[in-house]
Amino acid sequence: MNIDQGLPYYELTAGEAIERLQSDSNGLSEEEARNRLKRFGENKLPEKGKANIFKLIFKQFKDFLVLILAIAAVISYLTGHMVDVYVIIGVIVVNATIGFVQEYRAEKSIESLKKLVKHKATVLRQGERFIVEARELVPGDIVLLDEGLSIPADARLIRKKNLQVVEASLTGESLPVDKDPEPLEEGTSVADRTNMVFKGTHVARGSGKAIITATGENTELGKIAESLKEVEDKESSFRKKTARLAKIMAGIAVSTALIVFLTGYFIRDFDFDDILLVTIATLVSSIPEGLPAVLSIVLAIGANRMARQNAIIREFTATETAGSLNVIISDKTGTITKGILTIKKLFLADGKEYDVTGDGYETKGDIMSGDSVVDIKDNRFLAKSLIIAEKCNDASLKEKDEDDNERDILGDPTEVALLVLAKKTGIISLPEFSDIELIDDLPFNSEQKFRASLISYPDKHREKIFVGAPEKILSVSDRILSPEGHEKLSEEKKQEISGKIKDLSSRSMRVVAHAFKDGGEQDDEINPDDAHELVFVGLYGIIDPPRPEVKLAVEECKSAGIRVIMATGDHADTAEAIARETGILENGSGSEDCPAVFDEQMLDVDDETLDRYTRCGSVFARVNPQNKLRIAKSLQGKNILIGMTGDGVNDAPALKVADVGIAMGQKGTDVARDASQIVLSDDNFASIVNAIKEGRIVFRNVRQTSFFLITTNFASTLTLIAAIAIGFTYPLLPTQILWINLVTDGVMDVSLATEPGHGDSMDHKPLKKDEPILNKQIIPYLLIIVPVMVSLALLVFNHYQGESVEKARTGVFLVVGMTQVFNAFNMRSLRQSAFSIGFFRNKWIILAFFASLALQFAAIKLPFLKEIFHFRDLAWPDILIITALSSLVFGFGELYKAIRKKLRKIREVR
Ligand code: ADP
Ligand code: MG
Repeated sequence: MNIDQGLPYYELTAGEAIERLQSDSNGLSEEEARNRLKRFGENKLPEKGKANIFKLIFKQFKDFLVLILAIAAVISYLTGHMVDVYVIIGVIVVNATIGFVQEYRAEKSIESLKKLVKHKATVLRQGERFIVEARELVPGDIVLLDEGLSIPADARLIRKKNLQVVEASLTGESLPVDKDPEPLEEGTSVADRTNMVFKGTHVARGSGKAIITATGENTELGKIAESLKEVEDKESSFRKKTARLAKIMAGIAVSTALIVFLTGYFIRDFDFDDILLVTIATLVSSIPEGLPAVLSIVLAIGANRMARQNAIIREFTATETAGSLNVIISDKTGTITKGILTIKKLFLADGKEYDVTGDGYETKGDIMSGDSVVDIKDNRFLAKSLIIAEKCNDASLKEKDEDDNERDILGDPTEVALLVLAKKTGIISLPEFSDIELIDDLPFNSEQKFRASLISYPDKHREKIFVGAPEKILSVSDRILSPEGHEKLSEEKKQEISGKIKDLSSRSMRVVAHAFKDGGEQDDEINPDDAHELVFVGLYGIIDPPRPEVKLAVEECKSAGIRVIMATGDHADTAEAIARETGILENGSGSEDCPAVFDEQMLDVDDETLDRYTRCGSVFARVNPQNKLRIAKSLQGKNILIGMTGDGVNDAPALKVADVGIAMGQKGTDVARDASQIVLSDDNFASIVNAIKEGRIVFRNVRQTSFFLITTNFASTLTLIAAIAIGFTYPLLPTQILWINLVTDGVMDVSLATEPGHGDSMDHKPLKKDEPILNKQIIPYLLIIVPVMVSLALLVFNHYQGESVEKARTGVFLVVGMTQVFNAFNMRSLRQSAFSIGFFRNKWIILAFFASLALQFAAIKLPFLKEIFHFRDLAWPDILIITALSSLVFGFGELYKAIRKKLRKIREVR
């Protein structure tokens, strides 16, 4: 087989293309597909490394840091301090290694998260439909095209139904183009090859079937892969916040280092070389070079925790944005409800209501009229209704064997429900119906709100059958099924049916109507404009109970100051009933000013009125994608962040507009997923709330880690300034400062980044969109902790000064290092005691504590290091006493928290 020889595929007929690809209109066999996969390779494009924003900041810091350290090394060299030169080089290497390892791990975990969102495709293999991963596709595979599909490979069209494809990613043309399988002339350009579909473009509308002609790098997209752009990162407020923080911290570093220099050189008249080295060491230690790595780690950990709770982050910074959401606009079906739709009621043209037994997707159950099982054979109404259920349907239930409960269920849940109903009755196995042929099919979409099929009975008589939203079907019906045939659909009958729709809906049922009309013998196509003059058959009442965990999640949102809005395509009464069950609507809500439910017609208003509605409304029913976009835009005020869920192609604009677009991983289309920052792998509303929780923890950890870095940097610099100012000599040597910096900035800060939640992240209102990372909460810590740290250092220096300056520095080295390490325990929570949040709950910080302890002691005790750092012997009792004294920092932190809590209580009582 040589798939590249001969005329280009667009010049061939579909049949010739299939032949050339040695395939079959039923698809390849499993075995052949496997062989071809080996031969042609996976269907994927070479991945491009993406420049990561944090890496960039990191690099700049690093470069700057290395530059300063290099200057320090040169000065040390020129002044003959060879040992210092080696130490500084050592610091550069260790710093780079720590930074690299941290970055690398964060990067890896993000990469593996990205792989969780896989593109899939439906293929025919020997006549059966299978869902496979897009990268397993091979030339010759027959793929089915559906609305919202991101086309997985280049393919020659075989069949189409209203197929329109958006090829902007390939040709730049943003309007959808019509596709048709007819062969084209020689020399037709890519943009005009209407009988081909191309990898990376997507189906805007309609459906089709195509045979793959090229995969991976051989596709048109693969040929231009270099110019490919990744999904652009949303202008993220988190980036602005962190950039601001970095600037502030760099500013503090430079100005305090300058003070060190000025006091040392001008007031104390220290040697220029010496004071310069000390200044440089101060600068190096207070530059937050660890910050970018910490930020990546916090986000990566947050993203991983979210993934474990079924929210997969596609865009890194959305992890934090999720934490500040003020409003969630959610779908109903499948997100708030279970999405396992089951038909429980039938209301038919004979005026009777039937009950259906059996649960979920189990195909066992009966149709009951009152207490007796109905025999479908003698019931013309039921038979018609069930044939429509079975045939106006694109879902499939694959039963493996007799009592194997495991089934492969494919298709739209509404259609699965219809199919399950039909299978329960075995309608299609009745002899008179067993040979009904499906000629053509028109898929459902949420604007047109119905689906339809053209079928042919064994006697060659054709029928067009319709299933859809009840008002829609009712509005295009003018007759109703009757015992003799059909009769005019009178106003009264219409009223009666409308009453029934309302009745079923208010019992939280999703209502779907069905109807039919005769199909002309010549017709072999069905189109949207066929929906008129239908014969009404009846209603299916479908239950889809709310997910049990949603109620709690909604409650949590309320206590966290997050508004939950339901925007659904379903009927107002169904929406209202589910909203009440889940607590989205509270008892009694709904007034003249602000009705409980806003319906389609009510949304047809000017922007101002809509703004009023969105300010108060919680349930929007019968919305279409345009409404969704308008609702999102209307809500998106200055300081309001909205999260929006969606699944269809038409939801993409709203998902893009939302601050956090949330796509459904199961029922969602590729297009919706590609437009979102978060993909829910379980489609569950509760997962959104969990993601928000993790997002809040992310922000808190960023804040706490920055507070840690700032307080410790302040303390060590102030120790230097104070010592110099009161007339001591340098309390620390440059190399000693650098070592302490490695211990705190390189080890402790990372462990703070892993701090888990304390169960209080949903107790407060969402933070403002532009909430700075640094805020006044740090002031008490600066006022309490920093003075304790500085005075301890000075005391120790003073104590040993008489013996020798070197010994005094050894003591100060230990104090400064250990107070910083203990301060990390303060920063695990800014409000709660480390004991109430579980002292040992963050095992990383315990580990980091011992690692830091070991590093500090090693520097003092190991002969080799001791030599390098110019330390003097410090006896173990002294070491232990100093370490114990250092823990005072933690004690004072706890004391502050306890007093703060008391004061709060007193204030509350008043
Ligand atoms: P949602 O999924 O938010 O409930 P949709 O726009 O998908 O809203 O559906 C709107 C209405 O269209 C439903 O209430 C139902 O009556 C009807 N409907 C939905 N899906 C199908 C389908 N696959 N086939 C026929 N009718 C459907
Ligand atoms: Mg739907």
